[in-house]
Amino acid sequence: MTTESTPLSGDADVAICGSGPIGAATACFLTRHRPALRVTLVTDERSDDPEHLATYRYSGGSIRWAWDDPVKREMTEETARFVRELLADGVELDALENTYHLLHTGELIPALNVSAARLVGHLVDTARAGGVSWHPGTTVTAVRPGQGVHVVETSRGTVRARRVLVALGARTPRVVPEHDPEVEKRQLFVLDLPVGELRERLPHTIVPVGKGFAYVFLKRTEGGTRVVVGQEDVVEDHDTSGPVDHWDELLDSGVGDVLPWLRDARVERILWGSDAGHKTLAVTEPAPGLLAASCGSAVRSAAWIGRRLAERLAGPLG
Ligand SMILES: Cc1cc2nc3c(=O)[nH]c(=O)nc-3n(C[C@H](O)[C@H](O)[C@H](O)COP(=O)(O)OP(=O)(O)OC[C@H]3O[C@@H](n4cnc5c(N)ncnc54)[C@H](O)[C@@H]3O)c2cc1C
Repeated sequence: MTTESTPLSGDADVAICGSGPIGAATACFLTRHRPALRVTLVTDERSDDPEHLATYRYSGGSIRWAWDDPVKREMTEETARFVRELLADGVELDALENTYHLLHTGELIPALNVSAARLVGHLVDTARAGGVSWHPGTTVTAVRPGQGVHVVETSRGTVRARRVLVALGARTPRVVPEHDPEVEKRQLFVLDLPVGELRERLPHTIVPVGKGFAYVFLKRTEGGTRVVVGQEDVVEDHDTSGPVDHWDELLDSGVGDVLPWLRDARVERILWGSDAGHKTLAVTEPAPGLLAASCGSAVRSAAWIGRRLAERLAGPLG
């Protein structure tokens, strides 16, 4: 991820608030528009401050799953194609080719896991190379209507733009209260288990438990490849103030019966973040040209989302 910053310029055709998968992919696809647009991309990322650590940094980075829903299927398949092209071009995304094993249906599906941080970093770098003006370390405090434009107020000055995309993840409603998606806490348990043998024989296993799913897979982390267990709705946790250790509860929910060897593991680290509960793209337009967007699992849909939002932001005002 690049950290260099340049001063904010006053005017833009499009201002994008937030450089997670949604904001970064949209900025990247906007560079393809002709005639070229002046695009400003603002984000507040700071390292090691949970309040300012973007959700995608915790992500499992899973790109592929054969969804029954045709829209979700299209979203992930387009993104998988996009990512495979990047890999073919030699872009380093810490990719792990794998197989999704859906225990409840017995299906085996070819799957791809990438580092979401690397994917987003690549999208930002491509956007910058295409002329997007990039402003890290900059907090968006408000977006208000101006004369024929929207005014984006930030900790480092204001940007005026005819089109604005607010893509601040779970923090979007702070800036656009009309966009108030249901937010859920998601956790990944990074396990202290030898991965040597598992590397060969552990597919990305999806275990249905209760009304939710647990995911067991390999992920490349800074410390090396690790076995990781993710959970969605298996153990509900409405406390979004920080990570809580629900490991034993998760095992006792049935995951430990299905995969008993997990009981030998020690939890090395909990990665957590708050994400939109819906898995298709939700867009709110409280004023013409002002869009707020969110999507749970935005990593695996990033290319589809970026292309759609770029078309909408570059098109005529609705
Ligand atoms: C534990 C976990 C596992 C997950 N696993 C997967 C997975 O395997 N596959 C998958 O597809 N998805 C996964 N996700 C979900 C995925 O990470 C999110 O859907 C995605 O990151 C949302 O993208 P976004 O761009 O909407 O928001 P975010 O990723 O939250 O990005 C928001 C951006 O806005 C910035 N920002 C926020 N507030 C401000 C402000 N006021 N001013 C300036 N900038 C601001 C942030 O720093 C960040 O750059 C997982 C999430 C979690 C928590």
